[in-house]
Amino acid sequence: MLRCCGRLAPSPTGLLHLGNAWAFLLAWLAARAQGGRVLLRLEDIDPQRSQPDLAAAALEDLRWLGLDWDAGPDVGGPHAPYAQSGRGTLYEAALARLEAAGLTYPCFCTRKELRQMAAAPHVDDRGAPYPGTCRGLSETQRQALLAQGRHAAVRLRCPEDPIDFVDAVQGPQRFTLAACGGDFALRRSDGVVAYQLAVAVDDGLMGVTQVVRGRDILPSTPRQIALLRLLGMPVPAYAHVPLLLDAAGERLAKRHHSLALRELRERGVDARRVVGLLGRLAGCNPSGAALRPQDLLTKFSLATVPRADIRLDAACLRALIS
Ligand code: GLU
Repeated sequence: MLRCCGRLAPSPTGLLHLGNAWAFLLAWLAARAQGGRVLLRLEDIDPQRSQPDLAAAALEDLRWLGLDWDAGPDVGGPHAPYAQSGRGTLYEAALARLEAAGLTYPCFCTRKELRQMAAAPHVDDRGAPYPGTCRGLSETQRQALLAQGRHAAVRLRCPEDPIDFVDAVQGPQRFTLAACGGDFALRRSDGVVAYQLAVAVDDGLMGVTQVVRGRDILPSTPRQIALLRLLGMPVPAYAHVPLLLDAAGERLAKRHHSLALRELRERGVDARRVVGLLGRLAGCNPSGAALRPQDLLTKFSLATVPRADIRLDAACLRALIS
C-alpha cells in the first residue's frame, strides 16, 4: 500500500497564530498516526504578499510547537525545491500541457471589469463568479486586445460535471465548478501562477496522499481535484477541519496578535499547553493536559474532530495563559 504522505503548507504572509497551529497540528497528527511521512512546503507563490523573514518564522514556530517534517525547504528531500517560489518551471510545464490540450484561454478582463460584472461582492482569484466573458473570443479579438497593450490572465475551461469527494471531517461533498466561481485563473495577468495550479501541481508531484487544512479552503478543493485529474495526477484524500473563532465569533486571523504563536512563546507559554488545548478541541485529549504532539498519536482520529467551527472562550485562553 502507498505510504501516507501529509503536508504542512504555510503561507509566509503573516505570523502563524493559534488557528494555523490547529490546522497544522491536525495535518501532522493525521499523517503520523498512520505512520506516514510529512513534508513542509512554503506557499510563497505570490511575491507581493510573501516575506522571507515570515517564512523562517513559520518554520521556527512549527518546530516550537513540536512538529517535524521529513522533507522541506530547510531539510531538502526528493521533490525539492519545497518553496513554491522556486517551482515556476514545474507550474509552467503543467500550464503548457493544459494549454496544448485546448483546456485554457486568455482572459483580458481587468479587476475593475470583473468587479463590475460580478454580482457577488467578493471578487478575487479564490471566489469570483466569472461569467465566461473571454471564453469565446476569436483569435482576431484576442490579437486586437493584445495590440491595445492589455495583459492576459490564463483561465481553465472548467469541466461541467460535478466533482464528488468524501471529506474525512465534513462528509460527502458535491460541487460544480460553476458554483465555485466558474472558469478560474491558472496564471494572473501579472504573470504570477495562481494558488490553485501551484497547489494541485505540488500535491501531485510531491506524492501527497492526504490533505488536511482549514474548512475555509473547501471550495478550492473541487478546483484542485479537477486540475489533478486533467493533469493525470493522483488525487489525495481530503479533510477540512473547522476554523477556530475568537470569543466574538470572528475567525482567528493575523490581526489576533495575542494569539500569534510567537507572542505566546514570548509570554512564556509552554508549547505543550497549546498542544494540550488543541488536542482537547480535536477530541483526543479530554483533560486538556499539556503534552507533546507525539503523545497524542495513539488517541488521534479525524473521526473525533468536530465539523463545526470552534469558539475559543475565555476558559480556553485561560488554559493557555494562566
Ligand atoms: N497556504 C495555505 C495557508 O497557509 C494553505 C493552502 C493549502 O493547504 O492548500 O492557509
